[in-house]
Amino acid sequence: MIIQIDKNCTVNQLVDINAALENIGFKGTKINTQFGQYIIAIGKREFDIRKIGRMQGIVDIHRVSDDFKLVSSKWKVGKTKIKIGTDNWVGDGHFQIMAGPCSIESEAQIDSTIAHLLANNVTIMRGGVYKPRSSPYSFRGLGQEGLKIFYKKCKEHNIKIITEVMQVSQIEPMHDYVDIFQVGARNSQNFNLLDELGKVDKPVLLKRGISGTIEELLQAAEYIFSNGNEKIMLCERGIRTFEGAYRNTMDLNAISILKEKTHLPVIADPSHGIGIRRFVPQIALASILAGADGLIVEVHENPEKAFSDGQQTLSYKEAEALYKNINATLELRKNLL
Ligand code: PEP
Ligand code: MN
Repeated sequence: MIIQIDKNCTVNQLVDINAALENIGFKGTKINTQFGQYIIAIGKREFDIRKIGRMQGIVDIHRVSDDFKLVSSKWKVGKTKIKIGTDNWVGDGHFQIMAGPCSIESEAQIDSTIAHLLANNVTIMRGGVYKPRSSPYSFRGLGQEGLKIFYKKCKEHNIKIITEVMQVSQIEPMHDYVDIFQVGARNSQNFNLLDELGKVDKPVLLKRGISGTIEELLQAAEYIFSNGNEKIMLCERGIRTFEGAYRNTMDLNAISILKEKTHLPVIADPSHGIGIRRFVPQIALASILAGADGLIVEVHENPEKAFSDGQQTLSYKEAEALYKNINATLELRKNLL
């Protein structure tokens, strides 16, 4: 059960609400976010929900049978839209493209990518400075110094940045140089990291775990929300299956299912989703038809020379061909949804 608390609720009213919950055998947990106050009440007994709902200090009360609560679509009227910077939105009808290299490599590469983004009206640049790599001998990113240059260059052109945070100790130094924190697939259930990202007031893009279920992704998002941060985007980036013909199995089904189960925006990552450059555009468009609120795509001036994930990275020309098809695909989707 989710109880939405009035912003003017007094301490005495809260005490009364908690006492009433205890009375019916429910345990309440108080949640404060940047947008509201909630009590998540967990219990088994049947009771008249109106009795609690009519109490002073309560705006509304909802039964939510899902194990994840605050991220469930069962209580919230409408979809979540998240502000990126001052005038950009994602979710609830606002589609966003986030494009850029897998890894930030050099200042020249940032300049070149920015020019590509500006020419195509893309306002969010992706790029990792802390790279989770399967081998410790692979390029692991330019770190904090690279991030500072990445941020400065993008800020000059009003481009917002999304980059991966790998551990709790990186949050604070990264905070002022990041517009969206990315949680990678390998950290999808790093609950300490999720707890701490719940305490910052910046959007978080949470990727699905390599072998993570949809339910686990939603529970992971619940960690962030219940720690105080409602600005969460979920990301389908393919899962590990028995299939070996491509890097990951892009679970398009998950996009449609997530759109039904949660009010949060859902972003598709076709680059990691299939891992083969020539198929990325079609999987990207298929993700849009499945309901995605945005795309995160790997793009590089010269993919063959990329420090990481070149095999799944689009050239500027290939990316442009993809962008051109997005609006038509969104139109087509209107006939389906
Ligand atoms: C990435 O975005 O480059 C990345 C490492 O993604 P994932 O965590 O989905 O593997
Ligand atoms: Mn990558």
